[in-house]
Amino acid sequence: MVPQQPFQIGEHVYFATAGAYRAKNVTCPACFGTQKLTLILGDGEHVDFKCDNCEHATMHGRPRGTVVAYGVDSEVNEGDVTGVTLSRFENEKWEVYVGSRIPDRTSISRTREEAEAHRLVLHAVAEKYQKEQEEENYNRGRAKSKRSFSVTYHRNCIAKLEREMQYHRDQLLLAPKKEKP
Ligand SMILES: [Zn+2]
Repeated sequence: MVPQQPFQIGEHVYFATAGAYRAKNVTCPACFGTQKLTLILGDGEHVDFKCDNCEHATMHGRPRGTVVAYGVDSEVNEGDVTGVTLSRFENEKWEVYVGSRIPDRTSISRTREEAEAHRLVLHAVAEKYQKEQEEENYNRGRAKSKRSFSVTYHRNCIAKLEREMQYHRDQLLLAPKKEKP
């Protein structure tokens, strides 16, 4: 039995989407979006220079204040229904066009609040998926016994982080400090 047509053409609707490994622009973690960094010289003089952490993000070599990060992202979209047709593959399923997109029927709603609630669910699912993928990638072909693998893995991570922390501490100690005359 064909269910009742869910939406009418011209209706304004909302739908949520989410995905893992999506590229998104985030505020540059070095300059916090200000596009400049300040270097304090040995004699205390402050020198501003262009942030080089986010400058390669553009063709002209100018800093943008943002960098591209990959991770789970989700959003609520809105638009007008431009078409409603029965699926060619599943007779009892309606396909709803919103603009030129065909969102999953269950993700379409008439209120932003409903779509926002659905976005949270999708976001959590995408996060779980990405975490599983990362764990799977890590475990694949490496673990002879899970427990020994875990111990080795965590020990290696701690050792690596400690080395990195020491390196960064050394860098800070070496950096020029302002001296009182
Ligand atoms: Zn920057």
